[in-house]
Amino acid sequence: MSARVPLGYFWGARRAAARVLYPAAVVLAAGCAVSWAAPAPEPAQVSVDAREAPRGILKAHLRLPVTPGPLTLLYPKWIPGRHSPAGPITSLAGPRLSAAGVPLAWRRDALEPYAFHVDVPAGVSVLEADLEVLTAPAPDGVVQGLEAPRYATESLALVEWPQVLLYPAGVPTDALSYQASVRLPAGWHYASALPALAGSSTTGAAGVSAGEDVRFAPVSLTTLGDSTLLAGRYWRSLDLGGSPAVTLQIAADRPALLDMSAATQEHYRRLVQEATALFGATHYARYQFLWILTDQIMPDGIEHHESSDNRSPARALVDDNIRRAEANLLAHEYTHSWNGKFRRPVGLATPDYEIPMRGELLWVYEGLTEYLGDVLAARSGLLTQEEFRDEIARIAAQMDVHTGRGWRSLQDSVDAAPLLYYQDHNWAARLRRQDDFYQESALLWLEADTLIRQRSRGKRSLDDFCRRFHGAPSTSPQVQPYDFDAVVAALNAVEPYDWRAFWNERLQRLRAGAPLEGIRAAGWRFAYTDIPSIMHTAHEVEDHVLNLQYSLGFVVSLDGGGLSDVVPGSPADQAGMAPGSHLVAINGHKWSADVMHEALTSEAPAQKSLHLLVEKDDEYRTLDLPYGGGERYPNLLRDAGEDLLGVIGKPLAGGR
Ligand SMILES: [Zn+2]
Repeated sequence: MSARVPLGYFWGARRAAARVLYPAAVVLAAGCAVSWAAPAPEPAQVSVDAREAPRGILKAHLRLPVTPGPLTLLYPKWIPGRHSPAGPITSLAGPRLSAAGVPLAWRRDALEPYAFHVDVPAGVSVLEADLEVLTAPAPDGVVQGLEAPRYATESLALVEWPQVLLYPAGVPTDALSYQASVRLPAGWHYASALPALAGSSTTGAAGVSAGEDVRFAPVSLTTLGDSTLLAGRYWRSLDLGGSPAVTLQIAADRPALLDMSAATQEHYRRLVQEATALFGATHYARYQFLWILTDQIMPDGIEHHESSDNRSPARALVDDNIRRAEANLLAHEYTHSWNGKFRRPVGLATPDYEIPMRGELLWVYEGLTEYLGDVLAARSGLLTQEEFRDEIARIAAQMDVHTGRGWRSLQDSVDAAPLLYYQDHNWAARLRRQDDFYQESALLWLEADTLIRQRSRGKRSLDDFCRRFHGAPSTSPQVQPYDFDAVVAALNAVEPYDWRAFWNERLQRLRAGAPLEGIRAAGWRFAYTDIPSIMHTAHEVEDHVLNLQYSLGFVVSLDGGGLSDVVPGSPADQAGMAPGSHLVAINGHKWSADVMHEALTSEAPAQKSLHLLVEKDDEYRTLDLPYGGGERYPNLLRDAGEDLLGVIGKPLAGGR
C-alpha cells in the first residue's frame, strides 16, 4: 500500500482517522482546531536565503495559508533517515509570526517544545513566519544530546528543508503542499531532487546569478522534506547513466578536491548498474547523489527517495586511503532508495514529523543496507575483493571488542537507536556505540545470505530476497511499509527455513564475541595477525588515529594524543586507563605513531609490558600495561569450503 496522499488532498477528510492513529503524546495540537486553509487552495511558500550560509546563518520566510482561529504550528522533530528527534530546535531563532505586517504573539507548548500556539485573527488568510537556523561552529555537530547542524562552509551549503519550515499540527505531511525557493551566493551551483518550476532549470550546473531566486514546483511536504538541496562554489556533475537517469553532483571546499580518477568514475557508473541488477526495478523518477567533500562538516550520509546527502572528508577522491574508507557510503545511501525509502518498517513510516519513530526493525533498514552497501561496493569495483573481505573483518573485529553486547541485545540497540545516535564514542565498547547495530546486523545478513546459498545449493541467494522484497514493478516514489512477519515471509518464499527463530534468537541473545557464523560459512576464518589490512589502514588515515583496540585496547588520536574508548579486559583496561586521557610518552620516549609501533614490535615482546605516561585532569600518571604481544590486527584467512565471499562480491551486471 502507498502511504503517499496525492497532492491537493483535502486534509479535513482525513482528520478523524488521523486522530485515531496518533499516539496521545502528540495529539496535544489536535485538541484545538487546525486553522490551515482547506481544501489546499495555495501551497505554503518557503523562501530560503542562503547567501549568509557561509557565516552560519540560514534565513527562511514562510507564507502559510490559514483560516482564523487557534492554530498550532510545528517545527519538524522526527526527521526521516535520522531515526531520532533530530530537528535542530536549539539552533532555531524564531519564529517571528505576523499577518498583514502586524506581529502575532505565540506561545510554546508546555510539553512539546517543537509546538507553537497562535490565534489567527479574523480576516487573515496568510500567516507569515520568519526563521533563522544558526550553524554549529565545529564539525562535530552534536551538542548536549541534541543535533546542532553544521550545514555550510565558506564554499558549500546544504539546505535540509525540514530545518527551515513550520507546518500545521494534525495534518499528514503528504496532504500539505509547499513551494520552495532559495537564494544562493552569486556564482554558486546547486542540485536537488525537487522538480523545477516550468521554464527553469532543475540543476544549477551553470551557476546562479546575483539576486536570482531558484524556484521549484509545489510538492507535498513529504517530498520537500525528502529533497535536500546542495549548493556550492566548486562543482562537478557526472552523468552515471541508468534508466531512470542517475547523476552525481559534487561540491568541494577546493577545486582540486574534485579530481576524480577515470577508474572511480567508471566504478560509480557500475554501482548504478549493479544496484538496478540486484533489485530488478527502481522506485525513483530520476536519482541524484549529492556529495560534499569537506573537513568542516561531520562525515555522514542521509538517504532520500530520489537523492542522497553524502558527506565525506575533503580528500575522499584524491587520497586513496580515504577513498577506500568512504567507498561504501554512496552504495549504502543509494541502497536506501529501495531499502528504507520504498520498503520501510511500519514504525518508521510515520505520517508527519511529530509522531515518534520506532526503530525495532532498523536491523533490516540499516543492517541489510550496511551489508548491501559493502556487497555493491565490491560488485561495482569501488572495493576490490580483498578490500571487501577486509571490511568484513573490520566490522567483525568491532563486534569482537564491543563487550557491551553481553548486556545489550541487538534488539535493544535498535529500540534505543533514538538515544544511541547521540551517544559519545568514549566507552563505546562497554556501551555498544551508536552505530554498531549496523555492523552486527550486516554480519547476520551475511549469515542469512550464506544459509540461503548453501541450502539451495547455489541456486538462490539474498539477491532473490532483494528482488522479491524491493523490486518489480518499477514505481515512482512511494512507501510500502512492512513488519517483522513480512520479512520472515519473504525470506521463506526464497528459501523455506525457520527464519522467525533465526532472527528472534539473534535479536535477543546476549553473547560476547563477534557473530562469525556467516564468515565461516563463506569459507573464511576471522583471525588477528600482525599485519594491518588495507581497510584497517584506510580507516586509520581517514580518522587520524592509531587503532590499537586489538592489542593494547584503545584508540589514540594522531592530533594531540587523545585516548578514546578502552576495551574491557584489554591491557589498557587492566592498567586503569580512562577515555579522555592524553598519551604523552611510551617507555620514556615522547609518543608518536612510530614510537608506538617500535614499542609494540620490539619492546613489548621483550619486557612483557609497556609503560605509558598519560595526562588526565591536569595530572600525569604512569600506567603499566601488561602486554607481551606484538601488533595485532583483524584479517580474514581462507578456510575450507567454497569461497562464498568471492561469489557474493562478483558483479551481476557483467561488462567487467
Ligand atoms: Zn543508512
